[in-house]
Amino acid sequence: MITIGNYVKAKTVEEAYELNQARNSRIMGGMMWMRLGNARVKTVIDLSDLGLDQIEETDHVFRIGAMCTLRQLEQCEGLKELYGDGIAESVRHIVGVQFRNQATVGGSIYGRYGFSDVLTALLALDTFVELYDGGTIRLSEFVKRKPDKDLLLSVIVRKSKRKFHYESIRRTKTDFPVLTCAVVTGIVNGQESWYFSVGARPMKAALLEKQWEVPKDAAEDVLADFAKQAASEFNYGTNMRGSAEYRQHLAEVLIRRAMSAILAEER
Ligand SMILES: Cc1cc2nc3c(=O)[nH]c(=O)nc-3n(C[C@H](O)[C@H](O)[C@H](O)COP(=O)(O)OP(=O)(O)OC[C@H]3O[C@@H](n4cnc5c(N)ncnc54)[C@H](O)[C@@H]3O)c2cc1C
Repeated sequence: MITIGNYVKAKTVEEAYELNQARNSRIMGGMMWMRLGNARVKTVIDLSDLGLDQIEETDHVFRIGAMCTLRQLEQCEGLKELYGDGIAESVRHIVGVQFRNQATVGGSIYGRYGFSDVLTALLALDTFVELYDGGTIRLSEFVKRKPDKDLLLSVIVRKSKRKFHYESIRRTKTDFPVLTCAVVTGIVNGQESWYFSVGARPMKAALLEKQWEVPKDAAEDVLADFAKQAASEFNYGTNMRGSAEYRQHLAEVLIRRAMSAILAEER
């Protein structure tokens, strides 16, 4: 059971950051994960008055406030227009609508959970995180950092003409995933580039980038070879949901399916 001493609704981000520097303070997102823990928290800091609950679209970026819910992400028309159904697909399996109306993007990304669909999906795009103290850094760099006492303000997805596809495998509907996989492709600096993000290995999502020229009409066995190569560059582990070997096999299959779906869309 979690025990909380004080609840403070921060009036400014500075106040939230300062309060969070105490050892036993915690920022609260939707509290969906934190409330299941056993911690003794002296002060819990609520960010809900800080205007961090909007997805702002500009000519160049989507700025997703840390307090946006997974449901907002799922329903964002701008993201859908640019990247198709992939973002919605990445969160669609997370428990249920009521749950996704509470769990936040900030809590999901800050937590860097191994099982995270949200992290897997956003990592494959041109994504940055805006931290109060640490500035704006690439999500791929943030993922490798150990959790500290910084405050996540927003997640920034840079707009670009990229194709995005998301796949995951679960043993039963709404369970934690056995493997998550996002594939993105686009022309970057004049070169065809492919980005593979694979999570729930069961380790947290990692990103692989390849400058591959994949023929638009590539046969499934050709795609299977590309997928096999990409999948072999991640490491995998074993837990109650699956063995390392099984996960690597799933990664090959999901990457191939995602590449195939992207190419079919481009034809
Ligand atoms: C039963 C269950 C099933 C789930 N299944 C899945 C699944 O299949 N796929 C998936 O991707 N996810 C899954 N999740 C995780 C869920 O989607 C959220 O990622 C998780 O609940 C955290 O989000 P939250 O808003 O509830 O954060 P909280 O629980 O409120 O916070 C989580 C952590 O992040 C910190 N934090 C929150 N916001 C900030 C911030 N702005 N700055 C700094 N630190 C912050 C908190 O201090 C805490 O340490 C599941 C969770 C549960 C409880």
